[in-house]
Amino acid sequence: MTVHFPFQNSYSALPDSFFARVAPTPVAAPRLIKLNRPLAVQLGLDPDLLETPEGAAILAGKTVPAGADPIAMAYAGHQFGQFVPQLGDGRAILLGEVIDSDGIRRDIQLKGSGPTPFSRRGDGRAALGPVLREYIVSEAMHALGIPTTRSLAAVVTGEHVIRETALPGAVLTRVASSHIRVGTFQFFAVRRDTEAIRRLADHVIARHYPELVGAERPYHALLAGVVARQADLVARWLLVGFIHGVMNTDNSSISGETIDYGPCAFMDAYNPSQVFSSIDEMGRYAYANQPRIALWNLTRLAECLLPLFSDEQEKAVAEAQDILGAFSDQFSAAYQAGLRRKVGLFTERDGDDALIQDLLDAMAKNQADFTLTFRKLGDAAVDDSADARAQFMEPATFDEWAGRWRARIALEPQGATERQVAMHAVNPMFIPRNHRVEAVIQAAVNDDNYAPFEELVKVLAEPFEDQPHYAAYADPPLPDQRVLRTFCGT
Ligand code: AMP
Ligand code: MG
Repeated sequence: MTVHFPFQNSYSALPDSFFARVAPTPVAAPRLIKLNRPLAVQLGLDPDLLETPEGAAILAGKTVPAGADPIAMAYAGHQFGQFVPQLGDGRAILLGEVIDSDGIRRDIQLKGSGPTPFSRRGDGRAALGPVLREYIVSEAMHALGIPTTRSLAAVVTGEHVIRETALPGAVLTRVASSHIRVGTFQFFAVRRDTEAIRRLADHVIARHYPELVGAERPYHALLAGVVARQADLVARWLLVGFIHGVMNTDNSSISGETIDYGPCAFMDAYNPSQVFSSIDEMGRYAYANQPRIALWNLTRLAECLLPLFSDEQEKAVAEAQDILGAFSDQFSAAYQAGLRRKVGLFTERDGDDALIQDLLDAMAKNQADFTLTFRKLGDAAVDDSADARAQFMEPATFDEWAGRWRARIALEPQGATERQVAMHAVNPMFIPRNHRVEAVIQAAVNDDNYAPFEELVKVLAEPFEDQPHYAAYADPPLPDQRVLRTFCGT
């Protein structure tokens, strides 16, 4: 039996300027490291067949499955504020699209599958470490309920890639509701190709915002839709302590999914100005800057859409500004509502926002662990505050705050257990802590040992369950385990 991919490709039917047709470059000795079996089933693929050597060859780009129409997508982008008119898939190839069991169209893309016309000076390859990082973190984000690209498989290629040293090469099979980015629009905008922008916008509306088909002003509504999804997405990031690390416009998805896991990381101790990425020297993409940057990226998208809004430039700009103006309120509403759930409030009262801000301020001052403080606060709803207060350098700071919090929750009719259950449903026990991710990568790269990777992936699949047997995975790093810098490894 051969592996059957039920491809129904739509992007490769768009005009030739949207992509380059290019096949993956075969690799020496593909070996499957990980297959996401439930995701395979969701995509209508046979997981048993994907686990055969023939399946691994496909997932490594060694053979192209029937029905695939491999392309590298064209895009531009602002990288750290600097505009680059041509980026594109330099090391990724879109095999095609399938309709999943929920009826949603999904891209199946190989990342690290060889050079393309967009590779510039790059080798088109990926190293094993970053592939495992993306696999772990993207699947963790999905389990946390955050819109994200998914990881279907990781294979090692049997070849080395040269970075600072020679490293094992790998290919990630990435699944996304599409790989269309703000930078895709920018690619055509800088070329003043308004017809291409219209084609792209129509494709995006049909694919990601079908409710807008036939709307009176569809392109305005599209911008409003992307603004709303990005506002919600960034709020969700902040609520779990996620730092994307490279929020360039080419890494900003039009569908509202988290995309392009490079030097991303979850913070341990709460610190609004936290940065991990080694290349983010100015802190442009620091934790608390992410909403501002999302709006900046959306403003770049709006600029691309202006020609579709109106022939009168001034009118178009005013309309765009009006739509972008909704971002702040939408973000704040999602973020504040999320924080209220995190501290276990069922109702809304004056003073709540200040109470929550006081907790965050105390956490920052006391280097309290972001994840554990909220998780243990859920337990404090039924029990004493011992575990929560232990997160604070000066536990008395917490005690003062907790007194006010207890007085506030006492005003609500919900019982202690109900509150704990509600809080545990939004405050994860387990996040992909940096030191754990690094340890897993080291075991794989240095010792060809994937057992730690398997275990971490398994624990992170149920982040809201206590999983007492794996309690150590919830622990913050010891001082000598702290990972302060992450690298994109490209
Ligand atoms: P990223 O930092 O992964 O978002 O990539 C930014 C741009 O650089 C994209 O156009 C990538 O396709 C390209 N790129 C990154 N790494 C490589 C590589 N090893 N070979 C070719 N192109 C790459
Ligand atoms: Mg990218």
